[in-house]
Amino acid sequence: MSGVITVRRTDNAEQVELTTTTTGLDLFGDDRTVVAMRVNGETRDLQRELADGDDVEPVLIGEPEGLSILRHSAGHVTAQALQNLFAEAKLGIGPPIVDGFYYDFQTAPLTPEDLKAIEKRMGQIVKERQRFVRRAVTDEEARAELADEPFKLELITDKGSASDDDGSSVEVGAGELTIYDNVRRDGSVAWKDLCRGPHVPHTGYLGNGWGLTRSSAAYWRGDQRNAGLQRVYGTAWPSKDELSAYKTRLEEAAKRDHRKLGQELDLFSFHEIVGSGLPLFHPKGGVIKRAMEDYVRTRHIEEGFDYVGTPHIAKEDLFYTSGHLPYYSDGMFPPLLEDAERDAQGNVVKGGQAYRLKAMNCPMHNLIFDSRGRSYRELPLRFFEFGTVYRDEKSGVVQGLTRVRSITQDDSHSYCAKEQAPDEVRHLLRFILSLLTDFGLTDVALEVSTRDEDGKKKDKFIGSDEQWAEATAILQEIADESGLPVVPDPGGAAYYGPKISIQAKDAIGRTWQMSTIQYDFNQPERFTLEYTASDGSRQQPVMIHSAKFGSIERFMGVLIEHYAGAFPAWLAPVQVVAVPVAGEFNEYLAGVVARLRAEGVRVHFDDGDDRFGKKIRNATQEKAPFILIAGGEDRDAGAVSFRFRDGSQRNAVPADEAVAEIVAWIASRSNESPTAHA
Ligand SMILES: [Zn+2]
Ligand SMILES: [Zn+2]
Repeated sequence: MSGVITVRRTDNAEQVELTTTTTGLDLFGDDRTVVAMRVNGETRDLQRELADGDDVEPVLIGEPEGLSILRHSAGHVTAQALQNLFAEAKLGIGPPIVDGFYYDFQTAPLTPEDLKAIEKRMGQIVKERQRFVRRAVTDEEARAELADEPFKLELITDKGSASDDDGSSVEVGAGELTIYDNVRRDGSVAWKDLCRGPHVPHTGYLGNGWGLTRSSAAYWRGDQRNAGLQRVYGTAWPSKDELSAYKTRLEEAAKRDHRKLGQELDLFSFHEIVGSGLPLFHPKGGVIKRAMEDYVRTRHIEEGFDYVGTPHIAKEDLFYTSGHLPYYSDGMFPPLLEDAERDAQGNVVKGGQAYRLKAMNCPMHNLIFDSRGRSYRELPLRFFEFGTVYRDEKSGVVQGLTRVRSITQDDSHSYCAKEQAPDEVRHLLRFILSLLTDFGLTDVALEVSTRDEDGKKKDKFIGSDEQWAEATAILQEIADESGLPVVPDPGGAAYYGPKISIQAKDAIGRTWQMSTIQYDFNQPERFTLEYTASDGSRQQPVMIHSAKFGSIERFMGVLIEHYAGAFPAWLAPVQVVAVPVAGEFNEYLAGVVARLRAEGVRVHFDDGDDRFGKKIRNATQEKAPFILIAGGEDRDAGAVSFRFRDGSQRNAVPADEAVAEIVAWIASRSNESPTAHA
């Protein structure tokens, strides 16, 4: 066989003569940064042979798909090592996950010492540079070879129902079954696994950028009714440096964990008796919540929105009309039966109506729009409210404030003529970017979520092809003209239309998605909304959904982590902690505190019995931007001393000046921490 293939690298395409033996390894085998290849768009192992006319592109170790291949391959090495040490262990599944991988096993609970032993064995397997060799097999062959692996046998039987949700699609996927042999340099087979691949060419590609992180209990296919398993988690990176940078990030993230800081700073709590994912805000958390609410309420009014209000429950018919049911039924709480009529004995004589806790505000805003005739002169008509919505997140998924079941959205719906829609999307994007900047989140990117265009999931999305194409083009154009980085998200749209999500990076580089702008041509149709156009005709408006913070709860969680609890002065629950050097200066300092409070400053005056050193330690833990200290010299001079978060200090500042400086700093809404090193 002969022919020509096209090899694409970053910026050039080169024609390569094809021989009968040309594989990806012949093209890229010398370069350890290439872990697989895309052949005519499909990712394959480098060992696969190429055919005449193929279009080949390297998959780099540093790109998301390359990292997944590296991590999944590390999962195989983990499994081999574990079965070497625990011969009775049965294999579950082993997919890549964010920043790492896991592999499930049926085996006795694993200790930290076990993990160390597995890692040591893994190190030997990596050194052996065992090749991953792909082999297509029939169902019967696979069953015979994996007769001792009950979970793999189940996957073979169920391969039609393999899913991305439980990771089983990694093992079998669609089409023919494949087994991967791990082959030593002498040609002997060290281990094998049922897997659809692809993998790195050999275990040596793992280098020294990997490690196991922990183990936990799990259930086969995530279902408690199934067999109990042990899940081993690990991570893998292209280099040792990237691995240690990742570990540093984890440590930094643990220090900033908003669940930990929320408790230490007395901001909020969760209670078993209330339920998971249902936060209670304490007075100090309430300060931040109110600052956010005040800000966003004022901004909406300045931006031309009308403030409206709607109830927390409604008959479920409303959500069938909007189309949220049945599309979104998994996300909503089950129905409540209300209004049933009972006789004196309490027997139901007339059945009740099903009500639902609302999971979204738009259907009710639509009814406000539709409550009277609307003219083109009123458009864009913009409704806004703090709508608390309820989503039935599974208890395993809820996480602190960043994933809750009661979500307070700063939710708006703009109704406009179709030709006004692009400008309204621009308006909302400008609004959101300025809001994020005001809260100190300045590193942002946009994600454009579109309909899944391939057959399988397409019917999840309602509306015509033309409507989707038009709306998508508008959002894409506005995203592109913003000059911000734009990331595509195919298949991520809501059922009723495409959206732009605004993602912000926090202080340690993690990306959070909070704000959204969604284009909707479906709900106006379902609610038969209309307005009278200038020519007297009746027209259907376009509706644009937008949440700026997204959810107050989640945004607060992100702010806590972004600032590591050391909030900007304007947002800090406690702006000043006042600490007298000894009890005899209480009265003097109380006078300064009273002046600050008269200016609206939130002061904690520590006039308790603790010793001075202890009070300073407490004040530091409270992370207040200003600590004010007064001793003898200060009192005699009518002054105070400042101590800042960075430990810097300014002594003998006249009290008048100190009060004026604090008030001005708060009013400036600076997101920096004040310091003596100005
Ligand atoms: Zn695999
Ligand atoms: Zn909405």
